[in-house]
Amino acid sequence: MSIQIKNICCIGAGYVGGPTMSVIADKCPALTVNVVDINEDRINSWNNEDLENLPIFEPGLSAIIKKCRGRNLFFSTKIEENVACADIVFISVNTPTKKKGLGAGQASDLKWVEACARQVAKFAKNHTIVVEKSTLPVKTAEVIKKILESSHTLLKGDQKKSFDVLSNPEFLAEGTAIRDLEEPDRVLIGGDNEEAILALSSIYREWVPEEKILHTNVWSSELAKITSNAFLAQRISSINSIAALCESTGANISEVARAIGSDKRIGSKFLDAGPGFGGSCFKKDILNLVYLSSFFGLPEVANYWESVVKLNNWHQNRISKLIVQKLFGTITAKKICILGFAFKANTNDTRESSAIKICRDLIEEGANLFIHDPKVKPRQIESDLSKKNLNIDDEFEGQLNYREGNWFYSYNIYEAVKGADAIVVF
Ligand code: ADP
Repeated sequence: MSIQIKNICCIGAGYVGGPTMSVIADKCPALTVNVVDINEDRINSWNNEDLENLPIFEPGLSAIIKKCRGRNLFFSTKIEENVACADIVFISVNTPTKKKGLGAGQASDLKWVEACARQVAKFAKNHTIVVEKSTLPVKTAEVIKKILESSHTLLKGDQKKSFDVLSNPEFLAEGTAIRDLEEPDRVLIGGDNEEAILALSSIYREWVPEEKILHTNVWSSELAKITSNAFLAQRISSINSIAALCESTGANISEVARAIGSDKRIGSKFLDAGPGFGGSCFKKDILNLVYLSSFFGLPEVANYWESVVKLNNWHQNRISKLIVQKLFGTITAKKICILGFAFKANTNDTRESSAIKICRDLIEEGANLFIHDPKVKPRQIESDLSKKNLNIDDEFEGQLNYREGNWFYSYNIYEAVKGADAIVVF
């Protein structure tokens, strides 16, 4: 008997959960999609009448929210009641790298996933399909399964709760999330229960051609996601390493990139030299791969992937040094304009942005930074740089030469650029 899906609940209204559920609601008007989060401020922003104030900026997102919110797409903090009525629960919570304890600096911190699985175990009724949407280390599905199975499974009248766990990683790229969700290269579903897999596939089949929906075992699906990100990041480290060689040899990195990218076997994507990769996933996923490889006794594999992250760190340091060098060896009290602070274009996400490391170095060297990014709020930059934004006024502007090691938020790009000794474009 096939499993019928009517109600979806997504736990976590972040960069993955918000856009993914919006597109599902848009493409499947017969389904009810509830997105829940413990962060009340975030939920209030998702429900804000003014679509300019959504917590996430993605091209095309506000138009979908306008169409679907209140129709079949709802944002709330009511976790219990929405899990209870869901046929399928997506887990889209944060999984940052562990800061302390076993695997610190490499393994993902699974405390939010575990808390989430416990909530599902407690509140779910009847049969529920639980889907890992967050990027997770291989074998997390097993942990989730154990937590669900160890829950008190008896409901009133001897009726049992039951669960299927599937892995369905999200491949969207921030900045093009809506397009990626609407026209994915593939949808990956990992699991061992055919009925559950078909039930989840039936959602995607509303708009994704069947041949693009790949079924695998759960471990392949988990590993494919982190490997995809590792391969993409590796291309960025590779081209940035060649950029350094170009600077020393007189070759031109754009010409080299165009020449090698014309080879069909290599392809032209992800070959732009830049300030190094950022974002919440690339570094975290590679470090996960490093941790897994070491754990399974494969130090050569671990070292290979770790070098991709090391090169990225080295490259970011190199950029700060290059700026100091180009400005005659000193940037003390000089005005440097920073255009863009998010980790890439068309997003307001600053997690692991190269701009953070580079701006910190420049402030440390004594520069006065004027940062302009229309999508990132000053308080976010304050928190990333662990330094307060100085408000500039006319009187102060004349004294800029006597100040050093500050940063200013520029709402206006012209003000940011005016009189700058250097402009850094991220
Ligand atoms: P991602 O980029 O993976 O989407 P985010 O940090 O943007 O990550 O979003 C994750 C969201 O998950 C956050 O808004 C956070 O408040 C939410 N969250 C974390 N744990 C829970 C939980 N147990 N129940 C509900 N929401 C949670």
